[in-house]
Amino acid sequence: MRTALVTGITGQDGGYLARHLLAHDYRVVGAYRHGSKPRAQNLNALGIRDDIELIPLELLETTNLLRIVDKYRPDEVYNLAAQSFVAVSFEQPLLTSNINALGTMRLLEAIRAIQPEARFYQASTSEMFGRVHDVPQTEETPFYPRSPYGVAKLFAHWATVNYRESHDLFACSGILFNHESPLRGPQFVTRKITQGIARIETGKQSEIVLGNLSAKRDWGYASEYVEAMWLMLQQDEPDDFVVASGETRTVREFVEAALAAAGREVEWKGEGIDERGIDKQSGKTLIRVSEDFYRPAEVDLLLGDPSKAEKALGWQRKTSFEELVRLMVEADLALERGESPSRL
Ligand code: NAP
Ligand code: GDP
Repeated sequence: MRTALVTGITGQDGGYLARHLLAHDYRVVGAYRHGSKPRAQNLNALGIRDDIELIPLELLETTNLLRIVDKYRPDEVYNLAAQSFVAVSFEQPLLTSNINALGTMRLLEAIRAIQPEARFYQASTSEMFGRVHDVPQTEETPFYPRSPYGVAKLFAHWATVNYRESHDLFACSGILFNHESPLRGPQFVTRKITQGIARIETGKQSEIVLGNLSAKRDWGYASEYVEAMWLMLQQDEPDDFVVASGETRTVREFVEAALAAAGREVEWKGEGIDERGIDKQSGKTLIRVSEDFYRPAEVDLLLGDPSKAEKALGWQRKTSFEELVRLMVEADLALERGESPSRL
């Protein structure tokens, strides 16, 4: 039985990846931060909490990482842990860098020292492309990050490449474009929208306040993206891959699709921070724009080309944008009504 160590097990991807690994008969050692109690809602929702060995791990603490790698001797390490919210990285750039950049290097050092045969996956991101140089973005597109989050992730990406080239580690960087699900953190725009709509439908909230509606993202379904992570570590040679849907949509389009999934339609009035989405049926404002949710620097357009992953890994996204939005809205409606979502 192969052992996989997954950092960030309590996050969105941690849960889906663990489910995938368990289905492939792995012993899954799932690492959460802090010593007291893991935030296990996602693992409970997926019904896999009792199948995972949950251990505390802190990416800021070198000796802790050394002891864990020594104790569990993992065959595969998936480094999903991060301060993953771009907006927070502008307010907490040093913490973000310490976790996302140096934390990755600490883990690579622990593997290099103790278990160099372990295969390593780094959760890299399309945010590294930032102010994009090519459309669509591929593995060859130059990087130009636009946030402390992107800068720190770029350090971790190059550290992964460097440990592969310098120390012969089987280290892969997955450059994943935005991926979403009912388990996505509620501060991210997609979940904020679908949860907001479900709360409006159940009378708990009257409107959703958002920032830049014109930003474009390449959104896919997280449950499918973790399969690409696993596939990267099953190849003969380590490499880096873009994982994306190959389609881009504005935040405004996401709002419209989510409202449509709940049977609503808005009329847009005003421009910029004065823009409002007004419910065509009731005339009430459902969407309001506020400067509070704008960022000091924006990533305007992300569109990934997943051709290399499709050819080399045989990976293919299956869920369309519309299906993804619908499944998120349906799950949030169920949750707000106190029911269990039919699909996660
Ligand atoms: P997420 O839900 O925010 O999960 C992040 C995880 O990291 C949480 O379990 C968190 O623990 C843990 N963590 C944070 N700081 C830590 C520390 N100092 N030591 C140990 N653990 C720590 O993120 P996600 O959406 O699953 O994404 C997984 C990874 O992929 C992240 O690295 C993210 O940056 C990257 N990524 C995500 C996307 C996307 O669209 N989702 C796209 C590209 C790349 P707590 O539960 O204690 O907070
Ligand atoms: P990111 O791509 O990792 O930053 O994922 P987010 O979901 O946090 O943001 C995606 C895009 O939505 C960014 O361009 C944000 O500026 C934009 N956006 C607009 N309004 C909001 C909002 O209220 N919250 C968040 N998180 N993003 C917003």
